[in-house]
Amino acid sequence: MCPIKMSQSAESQKGVLFVISGPSGTGKGTICRALQQENPALRLSVSTTTRFPRNGEIEGEHYYFLKKQDFEKMIQEDQFLEWAKVYGNYYGTSRQFVLETLDKGSDVILEIDIQGALQVKEKLPEAVLIFIAPPTKFELESRLIARGTDSLEEIQRRLSCTIDELKLATRYDYVVINDYIERAVDKVQAVITAEKSRPRHFKTFFEQFAQ
Ligand code: 5GP
Repeated sequence: MCPIKMSQSAESQKGVLFVISGPSGTGKGTICRALQQENPALRLSVSTTTRFPRNGEIEGEHYYFLKKQDFEKMIQEDQFLEWAKVYGNYYGTSRQFVLETLDKGSDVILEIDIQGALQVKEKLPEAVLIFIAPPTKFELESRLIARGTDSLEEIQRRLSCTIDELKLATRYDYVVINDYIERAVDKVQAVITAEKSRPRHFKTFFEQFAQ
């Protein structure tokens, strides 16, 4: 007789929500783009923001660009899974996009700030939070300057936030130090692979043996 009785649990085949976050200038965007190339099925959520588009940014691809009053209306209508004011502008993640995509069984990746990531964890504790940290303060400063997208004043503002933000890394599930981009991408990929190897993602696979 079989010694093990399997319980009939209602395990879900939902997708996994990965949240890539960390201070500005740590290379989150580059890591997310590389991950998308390696995992074409991974759906990157396009955020909504009230900041002005930068050169080359495309509506609907980089962000949905909205006026402040329209964003505030969306807050009132509870359309965001999370939202935050980052450096004076609003940023938010569509609740509908994330929940519907996860329900369909696809994995979703968010590239958002730390306040937003912690809101997501509160609402969806099963979300996997990955903190991307700069290797050194000097490196962080150099990257923000090299990016050429922000004024010196803005760079100073972003740097001064970083020290406080680093303390919040302990509330994440994983920390990846972005010293070399390829190595950082490999580490985040390893997290994705490990999380996708949890038994709850193999319900359909194991069902075949029961037939
Ligand atoms: P940037 O203006 O440089 O594109 O983004 C500024 C910061 O806002 C970055 O740290 C970025 O990750 C974050 N961000 C982008 N989209 C969202 C979002 O939907 N929610 C939150 N909370 N932060 C976001």
